[in-house]
Amino acid sequence: MLVLGIESSCDETGVALVDASGSGVPRLLSHALHSQISMHQAYGGVVPELASRDHIRRVLPLTQEVLSGSGRVLSDVDVVAYTQGPGLAGALLVGAGVAVALGAALDRPTLGVHHLEGHLLSPFLSVDPPQFPFVALLVSGGHTQLMRVDAVGSYELLGETIDDAAGEAFDKSAKLLDLPYPGGPHLAELALRGDAQAYRLPRPLLHSGQPDFSFAGLKTAVLTQIRRLQQANADGLLCEQQRCDVAASTQAAIVEVLVKKSLLALQDTGLKRLVVAGGVGANKQLRAQLDAACARRKVRVHYPELHLCTDNGAMIALAAAMRLQAGLAQPTLQGSFAVRPRWDLAAA
Ligand code: ATP
Ligand code: MG
Ligand code: FE
Repeated sequence: MLVLGIESSCDETGVALVDASGSGVPRLLSHALHSQISMHQAYGGVVPELASRDHIRRVLPLTQEVLSGSGRVLSDVDVVAYTQGPGLAGALLVGAGVAVALGAALDRPTLGVHHLEGHLLSPFLSVDPPQFPFVALLVSGGHTQLMRVDAVGSYELLGETIDDAAGEAFDKSAKLLDLPYPGGPHLAELALRGDAQAYRLPRPLLHSGQPDFSFAGLKTAVLTQIRRLQQANADGLLCEQQRCDVAASTQAAIVEVLVKKSLLALQDTGLKRLVVAGGVGANKQLRAQLDAACARRKVRVHYPELHLCTDNGAMIALAAAMRLQAGLAQPTLQGSFAVRPRWDLAAA
């Protein structure tokens, strides 16, 4: 069974083909991605209308690239999967519209996939795939959640952020340091040359005893710290070392909370396996600290391949294939479709 996956929920157009013959983990045959980051950078964030228009331009050429990359043709595709939500409504409609049109033209069924299920299952495409059950730390641009995952489709929310996501905290703090959008990776880069102990920033809810998060206050604390330094400097600007120190201190605050809450969720569930997914899962400091803390507790940690941490089509094709293998999904042969810009994974 060949599943074509199309991702278009935000600012990346991703297309991929996976082979889900048999009952093993589906195999990624080929994938192609176009990031719109440079287009949105001038605006400091994603412009929804521009995102939709660009998805329209990219999705078919990327599909061609994936087919030629895997030596297949469109009629070899058995199921066309697409991200149904959550995400930007207009952007989602492009992927859904194209997927349903392809399905109709090829007389093949289509399947809408939950974007976060894609992130969550993406470590199954790595060389060392996890086994169920596990605790999942989902850390992306729009979500920060801890879940108990017993099987494909069995997702119990243990806790989540009450305000900003971890990726958002990275991006908003990075913006205060005049770093380009999305700032997470740039902030991490600056932090390499900084002292993480230089400034004491808040770790909200660290001791709440619950696997919940709050990051909205962090950007205010970062702003206050930056203002303080600016006022103390004769030129009103931060010197390079201070910028690196602010970046390192910010990263340390976010990472400490993510690690502590992951350990709490592992302890509460008694599980010995942690899966990290989403864009912030690419953060090296987070990986190093989770690896160290989990090694001490004999917990195995699994990550997606670095290039599959942020949005991509491979995770969408994979999630669809795993749902189909598990008998959980009914792909539909139909001409209509609906997107779900807001959609709870636990309800998917
Ligand atoms: P969602 O999946 O919740 O809808 P999204 O798709 O925008 O949101 P992802 O693509 O999973 O999110 O991840 C993007 C986020 O990951 C951005 O906030 C980005 O700054 C962050 N990010 C990527 N790489 C790193 C890194 N190395 N360190 C910190 N943050 C990072
Ligand atoms: Mg993105
Ligand atoms: Fe995402």
